[in-house]
Amino acid sequence: MADSRVVYLDNAATTPVRPEVVEEMIPYFTENYGNPSGIYRTAAKAKQAVAQARQTIASTINAKPECIYFTAGGSESDNWALKGIAESLASVGKHIITTKIEHHAILNTCSYLEKQGFDITYLDVNENGLVNPDVIERTIRPDTILISVMLANNEIGTIQPVEQIGKIAREAGVLFHTDAVQAYTQIPIDVQAMNIDLMSTSGHKINGPKGIGFLYIREGVKIHSFIHGGAQERKRRAGTENVPGIIGMAKAAQMAADDMEERTARERKLRDYMIERILKEIPYTRLNGDAVKRLPGNANFSFQFVEGESLLIMLDMDGICASGGSACASGSLDPSHVLLALGLPDDIARGSLRLTLGAQTTREDIDYAIERIKANVGRIRSMSPEYECFTSHR
Ligand SMILES: *Cc1c(COP(=O)(O)O)cnc(C)c1O
Repeated sequence: MADSRVVYLDNAATTPVRPEVVEEMIPYFTENYGNPSGIYRTAAKAKQAVAQARQTIASTINAKPECIYFTAGGSESDNWALKGIAESLASVGKHIITTKIEHHAILNTCSYLEKQGFDITYLDVNENGLVNPDVIERTIRPDTILISVMLANNEIGTIQPVEQIGKIAREAGVLFHTDAVQAYTQIPIDVQAMNIDLMSTSGHKINGPKGIGFLYIREGVKIHSFIHGGAQERKRRAGTENVPGIIGMAKAAQMAADDMEERTARERKLRDYMIERILKEIPYTRLNGDAVKRLPGNANFSFQFVEGESLLIMLDMDGICASGGSACASGSLDPSHVLLALGLPDDIARGSLRLTLGAQTTREDIDYAIERIKANVGRIRSMSPEYECFTSHR
């Protein structure tokens, strides 16, 4: 900890807000603070700006502005999509299809719905984290009302064949929701071409503010309102609009859409360089997730004979922000449900490290991270009796 260098490689957890985004938001705190429902000029400006933001965002996914509903983020969007459709279609059927590797905003909403009498099928994934669309097709029943499969996974970065799943759902007359929180502005999304009926996103994963996101709801989809109150968001999500948040989200989305090709090409190159070096220079290491169908900024490794938590603490002392394969947020060291769903044994899942790059990541950051990971993995292994035993018997 000689210097106070910070290398932020946890962009799947959250991202820094772009300065241009902050700048765009400020007037909506200080001058145009009026409630968009008001009839005076400062309110009209806020109202107009929200309408413009809705349009900007809609254009990034080939949607109509009326189909964009602002929410408080990814978790709320996921909750609304699942509970709203479940309530709205309960008389039609009570079967929902999802996967074992969804974010907890989906999985815990599903277990809530199970307690309400819904029947949820949690599909397996293959060793790279991919869902098989044929299995989805075979799982659809007459009482299936919704399929929810994430576009890209937050831990391993695997990108699902969403276009195919959307087509299967549409042909079967079943609604299709996708959690696109990680994928939005990282890969091109076209809700028409992909047959997406509902889609969740979040501002703070795209260099925008926290506490804002949106749910895309295709025209004609019947869904119960999520928050009851005023007439905001076409009477489906009450509450005075988070105007600065909405303005910030739109600015972040626009900037990220504009530079997507160039930014993701850069990230992909840096990431592949890191993956190649880590796999080559650190023995008994594996890459988790699909090598090709993968978010541009995601790398997830398992180091044999390494306790992930120890590695994270050492990296933190070196100024490196990363995350691991256990649900440390909940205070437990249970291995992640995603890594277990890939079929990894407990100890390998526990020895995993997620590094997620962002727009601000540099080659120097990556070189420094590789060097520290190598050194720390070496130190942990040198103290491991299992490692010593393993290497002395070869
Ligand atoms: C971060 C994340 C969420 C939750 O979004 P919040 O805006 O933090 O509520 C949901 N799904 C995925 C895949 C995520 O990565």
